[in-house]
Amino acid sequence: MQSWTPTRIAVGAAGAFALLYVAFGLNGWGSPAANEQAIGEISRWCERVHKGLLREPVNALGNLGFVVAGLAMLRTLGRDATIGRPNQFFGHTPVALLYASAAVFLGPGSAVMHGTHTFFGAWIDNLSMVAYILIPWLFNLSILGRWTSRTFFTIYGSLVLLYAVGYWFIGPDLGIGLELFDVSIAVWIISEVLYRFWSPAMRVGSGLVGFGVAFLFGITPSQMLAAPGEYWWVALFWLPGLLATHPAPATRRYTPWFWVGVGAFLIAYAIWLTGTAQHPWCRPDSLIQAHAVWHLLSAVATWGFFKFLRTEAPVTAGSQLAGVRHQSGSSR
Ligand SMILES: [Zn+2]
Repeated sequence: MQSWTPTRIAVGAAGAFALLYVAFGLNGWGSPAANEQAIGEISRWCERVHKGLLREPVNALGNLGFVVAGLAMLRTLGRDATIGRPNQFFGHTPVALLYASAAVFLGPGSAVMHGTHTFFGAWIDNLSMVAYILIPWLFNLSILGRWTSRTFFTIYGSLVLLYAVGYWFIGPDLGIGLELFDVSIAVWIISEVLYRFWSPAMRVGSGLVGFGVAFLFGITPSQMLAAPGEYWWVALFWLPGLLATHPAPATRRYTPWFWVGVGAFLIAYAIWLTGTAQHPWCRPDSLIQAHAVWHLLSAVATWGFFKFLRTEAPVTAGSQLAGVRHQSGSSR
């Protein structure tokens, strides 16, 4: 049965956000946050700071990509026939709705930061990123740790709330040098490796994967060794192994959507590096802003991972039997 209620609510919420944004912005945005530049100057993300409703117009509007991606997910879920599909990313399941809503939220979250240059904007931008990135790795751990749906949502809600309060009153690193978004990327990949290759030995070894992920983002093991106090959070690389008490009862198909997601995000990140005021490629008055492209490609990544999670299928008796046959065959 098709239902458009979640899609309608999301469209309504996006519309209400736009109205509120304009209503608040008509009186100006007040004084900018300490790390933002004055009107007419080049912003942190290269684009020149404008007066009016949008401080960085192209960068702010580039966030519409997330709204489009999230609404497309809700539309897909609304059309799903769920009978005979034991997959939590088909139909209006709690986790699928959470994922799609978090993708939509990335749009306004980040647009407020680029549009208003306020502390509130920076806070809600980071909050939206954390609210998204926690989902895939907590979802994996909920499967590998055999959590109930209630446990998953309690842990997710608590972490989002803790981050929101911690950022507001202390700072983005929560006063303990923890960048929850960045660390979550590594923890997610580690949980994905455990999902695919779970074994008791892998529970111990999977933490090492985190160093590979950190390396991709420019942090080398020797840097970490030189300042262990600053990089204490590498201990969290072993959190998935600790909590993944069981193998996954299902399999996922990685080609093409997992790789679409990973590829889009890595290209987006490479472009993000060029989208700063200091970079020689910065053209503050261009209509094409590297940071806006980062937003659009990141939106493609959220779509890729959504499609990837939909490929999950239970390990059937037949495929288990094939595995046993394979194992006994190779032992001979
Ligand atoms: Zn941004």
